[in-house]
Formats: sequence, C-alpha cells, structure tokens
Amino acid sequence: PGTAISDKYLDHNQNNYLASVFIKNKMIGIALMDYSTGDFFGGEWDFKKGLDLIRTYNVREVILSEKQYELFNDLLVDKSYILSTYQNWITDQRTSYDKIISQFKVKSLKGFGLEDYPLAIIAAGACIYYIDDNHKDSSSHIQHFQYQGQDDSMHLDPFTIDNLELFKTTSSTNKKATLIHSIDKTRTSAGSRLLKKYLKRPLLDIKKIKLRQSRISELIKFSDTRLSISDLLNEVSDIERIISRVSSKKSNPRDLINLKNSLSNAAIIKKTIKKSMSSLYKLGSEFENITKVINKINKTIDDDCPVNMLNGGYIKDGYSKKLDHIRKLSNNSKQWLIDLQNKEQKKNDIPSLKIKYNKVFGYYIEVTKAHIDKVPDYFIRKQTLVNAERYFTEQLKGFEDEILSSNEKLLSLERSIFEDLTCYIMENSKSILNNANVLSKIDVGLGLADIAIKNNYCLPVIHKKQEINLIASRHPVIEKLLSIDDNFISNDINLNTDFKQIAVITGPNMAGKSTFLRQVALISIMAQMGSYVPANKANLCIIDKVYTRVGASDNLSEGESTFLVEMNETANILNNATSRSLIILDEIGRGTSTYDGLAIAWSIIEYLHNNKKFNPITLFATHYHELVQLANQLDRSLNLNIEVSESDGELVFLRKIIKGGASQSYGVHVAQMAGLPKKVINRAHIVLNKLAVDKDTNLNCEEIDQLELEFNSNNKQRAINEIKNLDVDNMTPFDALSKLMELKEKYDK
Ligand code: ADP
Repeated sequence: PGTAISDKYLDHNQNNYLASVFIKNKMIGIALMDYSTGDFFGGEWDFKKGLDLIRTYNVREVILSEKQYELFNDLLVDKSYILSTYQNWITDQRTSYDKIISQFKVKSLKGFGLEDYPLAIIAAGACIYYIDDNHKDSSSHIQHFQYQGQDDSMHLDPFTIDNLELFKTTSSTNKKATLIHSIDKTRTSAGSRLLKKYLKRPLLDIKKIKLRQSRISELIKFSDTRLSISDLLNEVSDIERIISRVSSKKSNPRDLINLKNSLSNAAIIKKTIKKSMSSLYKLGSEFENITKVINKINKTIDDDCPVNMLNGGYIKDGYSKKLDHIRKLSNNSKQWLIDLQNKEQKKNDIPSLKIKYNKVFGYYIEVTKAHIDKVPDYFIRKQTLVNAERYFTEQLKGFEDEILSSNEKLLSLERSIFEDLTCYIMENSKSILNNANVLSKIDVGLGLADIAIKNNYCLPVIHKKQEINLIASRHPVIEKLLSIDDNFISNDINLNTDFKQIAVITGPNMAGKSTFLRQVALISIMAQMGSYVPANKANLCIIDKVYTRVGASDNLSEGESTFLVEMNETANILNNATSRSLIILDEIGRGTSTYDGLAIAWSIIEYLHNNKKFNPITLFATHYHELVQLANQLDRSLNLNIEVSESDGELVFLRKIIKGGASQSYGVHVAQMAGLPKKVINRAHIVLNKLAVDKDTNLNCEEIDQLELEFNSNNKQRAINEIKNLDVDNMTPFDALSKLMELKEKYDK
C-alpha cells in the first residue's frame, strides 16, 4: 500500500506515504515517501515526537529492518499500521548513504542538510532500496529529500489535531465540519495536498509566514489577475502523479497531452503575473523554461489520442516519415481489396464473389455453390461451407502478409516513439516537477485568497511579543455551519505572558466555551500557515506548540480509564510546554469526582502560573465556579465568562465573552432545555439549593422530600396568585387559551 501508484488505490487530494524508520537509543530516524508524487522528506526525532509525525501524515505502510521489527512493534501504541521488513544489511550507514547519492546523482548529502543525521540517512536509504525492489528501475522521479529539523514548525500532537478537527471530525452528521474542508478552495489535487502539508506543519519563521501572506494579499488586491490564474489552474492536471506514472512506465498518451496542457498553462500563468505583485512575481520567476518539452509533446502526440495504446493511432501524422508510410499502406489496403474483388468478379464472371476476413483464416475469397464451376485454377481452396466455398490466391496471401506485418510495425513504431518521448520527459523531470511545485504554491495562495475574501478574514500581524490580541474573532468552521437565522457572535481576547497569561473561562454548558477556546487555537494555526484569519483584527505571536486537552475524553476502547487518559495527556503538556506554547484546557478534571477534579484543576492552573520554567498563554474552560476565586488571586490570571441571560427560568445564550466569573452554573437549566422531565428538574433545583446553603450536610432523601413538598405548595400558591391576577374581562378567547397553556407548562410536574 505504501508504494501504490494506480489511481484505483489513491485519493487525488491526499498524499499516500510510505514511512521508513530506524531506531537508535531513544531517537528515531524517519523518511516519508509518496511514490506517486515523488514527495520525500524526513529527519530525526525523539521517539514520541517521531511517532506523532507518523500519525500526522497519511502513512499507509511502515518499513523497517528485520531486527528492529519487534522493538518497534512493542513501542507502537497504534497497532493498525502495516509493517513490512527488509534485510538487516540495508541499515548499514555507508550503504544507505551511497544509495541516496546515487539516486540523486550527487556527490554528498550536504546539499540536502542530511549529512549529519545518520538515522535519517539510514531511513531514507532503506526507503529507496524498498522502492527499487517494488518498482524495478522506476524511481527516477524521486529526486529530492527535504530534511525537516526538529524545531522548524509548530508542533501539533495527534490529540490536538483530532481535537481541533483539522482533518477529521467526530461529528457523524457532517463529515465536512473540519478546518481543512473550510479553507481548501484549491483548484488542483497537488495544491490540495500542499495545503494539507501547510496545515500539518505551520511555520515558526516570521519571514516565511510574511512571504506567504504577501502572496495572498497580492492576489486579493489584483482581482483580474486572480481570476485569470484561477481559470488557468482549473485546467491543470496532476503533474506529479503523471511524472511518477511516466517514471514507472505506466503512462498513456492522454497523460502526456494533459502534461503538455498543464505546462503550457504554467507558462501563461507566469506571464499573467504583474511585476507589481512582487512576491508572486518572484515566485513566478522560479518557473523554468520548458518550452522544448511542451513543443516536443505537441509535435509527437495527437491531441485527440485514445487513452489506450493497444490500437495505436496516438502519434501525430508528420512526426515520422516511416510511420506515415506504413500508415498510408494500411489505410490504402481497403481500396486495394475492393479493387481486387471487382477485378476477380469481372474476370471470372461471378458478381457475388466477395473478399472477406476473419480472425481464424485471415483474408479469403468466397464463392457461392451456384458459381463453383466458374472458379479459375489459381484459386486455392481453403474451406468448404454448406452454401459456399472459400479460397485464397497467391496475390491475396502476399497482401495479407504485408498488411499484418505493417500493423505490427505500426504499433511497435508508435510505441518506440512514445518511449523515446517519455525518456525525454524524464530527462527534464526535475524542471517539470519544479514547475509543478510552483503551480501548487500559487494554487494554495489563490485558494486562501478566495477564502479570505469570501469569509471576510483579516491579515494577522505577527509580532515578537508573546501576546495574542484578537478583535471580533470567529470560529472558521462553526460560523459556516450555523443556520441562516443563527448569527455567529464574534469575540475579543487579549492575552500575554507578562500580565494576562491565564484566562479562566466559566459559563454553563452549551454557552460556547469550547468553541471559543478552539477558535483561538485555530486562528493561531491558520496565521502560522501564512493564511488570513477569521477576525476583524489579529495581533499574534509565534506559537511553538499548541496543546489542547479535553476532560474525560472517551478512550475506553484502548482499555484505559478516561480519567487516566485525561491525566496522561495533561502530564505531557506540563512536562513539555514552553513559554511560547498555547495551552487550551477544556474542562480538565471533569473525569473524576467533583472535589478531586476541582483540586486537580486548581493545582494545574497554579502550576502553569507559578512554576519558574515557563509561563505559556493558557485558556482554561471550566464549570467549577470555585476556580473564579483562584483566578482572582493569581497575578497573571483573569476571569472571563460567556454571557447568558435568564428570563422566566429559561436560559438565553448570548455567546458574548465578558470579564468576570460566571455567577452560577445553570447546569439544571441546560438539563431543562434538553427536555428532562419537569419532576427531575424541580428535584434537581431543590438538591442544588440545599447544597448551596450548606455544603457539608449529608444529603438526606426525606429532608429533600420535605423541601419538595414546600416547593410544590409554594408553586401552587404562585399559580393561584397568577390566576387571581388575570384580567379575564379584557382577554380574547385566544389570549385565555394561551395563558392556560402557559400555566400548564409552568406548573405541570
Ligand atoms: P460549551 O463548551 O460551553 O459547552 P460549545 O462551545 O460546545 O459550548 O457550544 C455549543 C454550541 O453553541 C455550538 O455547537 C455552536 O452551535 C454554538 N455556538 C458556540 N459559540 C457560538 C458563537 N460565538 N456564536 C454563535 N453560536 C455559537
């Protein structure tokens, strides 16, 4: 599966990776290769980070040496990977090194930044061996290895990727509720794959981010250029996959026509970019001139060629004199046969004489029994039927030999011209793949420009100060999912490591806490991808790692208690975060009893605030109101809550983030909204009141029964009063009926 090339097994918009791994001490060297596109990269990581990397990419198969199989398998938590092994000798560093330099036709690996990374070298070398084994002599499109340093992109662990629903959603009703789906407006499959890579590895380097931003800004500004480029990109095929098919000798003539058209469009796009669009112009200048390849395909392959090569007919007339000559011969053969038939009919006075062809006997002359006596001597009998006899002549036999051999010659000549052309294409594949890469970058920029315009995004300012300041920010996915009558309410946030490091956000369930937390993380990620973001104004710092953790995530299938998982993940954050990280904790502590949970949540916040090693910007959503007091006491912590209003016992969510802690939990109200029976809700109110008055009392059912009786009789009195106060004389029958329904609704248990 890791070396698949057939369209049947590949998703156009997804890379299909083979991961090669080599472990030493606590480190792992990884090389990821997509054979179907030539994409090849990797590096060295500590073991856990390395496994995160494998999970992040769409890895279909992992390869490793026989002797490391057990070790790796034991360390692997997710056992769903297909593991394949190769012989141990391949992991010799020198052997791997030589394999890579001979693949890339270079003298050393310095140019790839790989020279000092032995584990990555072994992984990459083994990968090439494996590919060679599976696709003999067909790896010439693998021409580059991109070394990824440990710290050159924002680290997103698998939990965060899942939790923020970057690529997959847990929603069973709307599979498209993911960030990638909301922001992918690319026109080409390669563009779509590149955008996914951007999202998997948001940048840390401000300069690089600004470069991507300015391309988008220019495309937004110059709408005529944007539209022209868009039309041209719509007609671009998957160049990378065509080249890999050419390299593995599985291409067809239509592939080459698509390649020609796509490369021509790239050349037009280059001309379309205005000089004043300086960043895009610079990118455009990276297009190499490959007119000669375009011309050669144009001269060789017929634009209306069939996909299938079996019957020939795809090489253009005029390309080869020899081919034209044989074609003429075979095209003229029909007339030659008609002439011969006419001649024999007349000569022998048999008007019904026919020359026919079948696969078993080839060409023959057929004469009905009625005319048999007129058949001349030079007709040689071939077959007797009930009503007719079949013959051949020396002349017909000679013709047949010539025609059959010319067809064969035609097919083999066309095929050899095609093969010469594919060799020529492979000789130029480096330039072609380079142009494909530039096209993908333009495509991604264009897609992000479209999204920014359509959804009213702003250009984030990235600064060096550790501060996140968002005005009127929105959740990029949820704002698109709300119904037309439901407006997404935008919110502001301003946090920094010096004064406002930790925001404790309280509010009832369903108020919008999780949505808000995730939107802050998503905006940071989008900004570091180089994209515009869903806000009116955004000033952001560079975040090195985003951690999101949600209380009591369901992980029972892996046999661990939910709370243990929750704590494992939290421990990972507290051990690995830095002052440049963004931490999103949603209801941490929820997975255990109230007091345990509260105590843990309390101490986590204190630790994030007080420890001397790091002070990351943190958003902590909770329904423990006690944490409001803690946030009030810590210097760099603040309370926020999501506004709700209560009218007639009903909750109205206003979705607006305001300063201060929430006044109460409203959990019972939410239960009421969810349709729990009134009796349950009333009882819960009573228990809640009792707890609020005296937290230490042991709850006693009889006592609560008593309170419920009081509550009910109070209710009765309230209902009677309400009826007494009605101005019945001035009510229409409809008003009366409505009031009656309202009373029933309110007091019915
Ligand atoms: P909580 O975490 O407080 O329980 P959620 O964040 O899950 O609440 O939000 C519940 C629902 O409220 C979301 O699915 C969404 O439909 C809606 N919602 C959240 N935030 C907003 C907002 N700012 N504007 C409009 N609707 C929102």
